Amino acid sequence: MFKNFLNFTNNKEIVYLDKASTKPIKEKWNKLLFKENKNNFQNLSSISPQSLKNQHVIEGIHHSFRYWLDANDYFILFTSGATESLNLAFKGIAFKHILKNKLFANKEKNIVISLIEHKAVLEICRFLELLGIEVRYVPILKTGIIDKDKLSIYIDKKTILLSLPYINNETGNCQPFETIGKLKKKYNFSFHCDLTASLDFGPFSLKDYDIDIASFSSHKMCGIKGLGGIAISDINKICPLIHGGGQQDGLRGGTENFPAIKVWGEYLKEKIISYKEGQKKINILDSYCINAFKREFKNRVIFNSFLKGKRLPGIINLSIKGIPNNELIAFLSERKVFIGNGSACNNIHLEESKVLYAMGFSHEEQKNILRISFDENNCMRDFDTLIKNIKLFEHNLKTDKSLKIDENEDLNDVLPDCESYRKIALKYWFNQVWKNKDRK
Ligand code: PMP
Repeated sequence: MFKNFLNFTNNKEIVYLDKASTKPIKEKWNKLLFKENKNNFQNLSSISPQSLKNQHVIEGIHHSFRYWLDANDYFILFTSGATESLNLAFKGIAFKHILKNKLFANKEKNIVISLIEHKAVLEICRFLELLGIEVRYVPILKTGIIDKDKLSIYIDKKTILLSLPYINNETGNCQPFETIGKLKKKYNFSFHCDLTASLDFGPFSLKDYDIDIASFSSHKMCGIKGLGGIAISDINKICPLIHGGGQQDGLRGGTENFPAIKVWGEYLKEKIISYKEGQKKINILDSYCINAFKREFKNRVIFNSFLKGKRLPGIINLSIKGIPNNELIAFLSERKVFIGNGSACNNIHLEESKVLYAMGFSHEEQKNILRISFDENNCMRDFDTLIKNIKLFEHNLKTDKSLKIDENEDLNDVLPDCESYRKIALKYWFNQVWKNKDRK
C-alpha cells in the first residue's frame, strides 16, 4: 500500500526535511492558483453572478475551517499571514480594552505569554508595553512546554489575554492546555492560541480547550505564502486593525485574495478526507527516523523532543555529540538536503534560538541541535539520505582540516554579522527569565 512512500522520494531533486519552517507548494495547487487567477478574477464584493458564486465558495471554506478546528460558531477571517492574525488578536483585544476603559498607563491590564512565542508575538507585546499594558512571560521547562503548575502565578483579575502556541515549534512537544479552562472560568480572560506550527498535523478542537482566538498561516499547510487565517469566537471582543471597505464583516478591510483562499480551501477539503491515512504514514516515518538515528549514532544522539510524552509526530529535535549544526546544515544544503536548526548564531532562525535559550539549552548545547520535520509526502529514503550525508560530513570533519572547528573560537569571530542579534536576544530573554523568577 505504501510502496511509493517507502521506497521513493517524491521530489527527486531535493530532500526537504524542514517542513516546520514552510512547505513546498505542490504542482497541482500551483496550477489551480493560476487557473483561479485567470478565470475567477472578479472582485468578491461585487454582485456579478461569478462573485456571488465565489462568496458561496468562501462560505464553504469557512465551514471546512470550522470543522477542522471544531469551532462551529466561530468567525473565520482571512489575513495576510499568521503575523497579521497575531496582530489582530493581540492588538484587537488590547485596543478594545483601551478604548472601553480609557486606559493608557499604569499597567492597568496585563497580557500573559510564554517564553517560546514566535517573534511576531514578542514584537507585538513590546509595542503593547509602550501603551501601558504589562506583559508577563511564563517560563518554560527544558521539555519546551510551560510549567502548568506555575501558570496561575502569572494570571490575575487584570489579565485580558493569555496566549500560548499549541506546540513548541522546535520540538513538536504539546502544551498541557487541559488546565487552562479552570483558570479562564476564574479570571475571565481571552485565550489565544498560535496554531501556525501545528494546524497541518490534524484537526484540533478549539472548543475542548476553550480557546477564544486561534491564528494560523497557509504556507505551513498548502504552501501559499502571504495568506493567513484567524478563528474568533466573539468578534465583539476585538477591535479591527485594518479599516477599509467593510470586507469580512468589517473586521478586515481590503479585497480578499480569492484565488489563494480557494486553493487553501481545496487543500483543506482534501486534507479532511485524507488526514488519517497521512497520520499513519507520518507515524511510521517518525519511528523510522528515531530508530535510524539511534542505530547509527547510538548514545551520541540525544532526543530533545518527547519520545514518550505528548508530541506531534513529524517534528524531531535531536542533538548529535561532536556534530556542529551550522556547518552540517551548510554541508547538507549544498547536497540539496534540508533540515533546520535552532542555533543562536543563525539570525534567520533567531526566533528559534531564543526558544532554545528559554528552554534552558546553553549556548554550547545549542551548537549540536538539529530539527528534522516532515509530512506524509516524505519517505524513508529521505532519512537514509540524510544520515548518509551526516556520516559523510563527519568523515570529512575528521579528515579535512578546512572543516575543522576550533572549539575555543569565539562565536562572534566566526559569525560577526550575528553578534548584535545574539546579544539582543540573550539580554532580552535572560532579563525576562530573571524578572519572572522573582515574580510572586
Ligand atoms: N507563528 C508561528 C509559530 C510561526 O512558525 C510563524 C512562521 N514562522 C508565524 C507565527 C508567522 O507566520 P507568517 O510568517 O506566515 O506570518
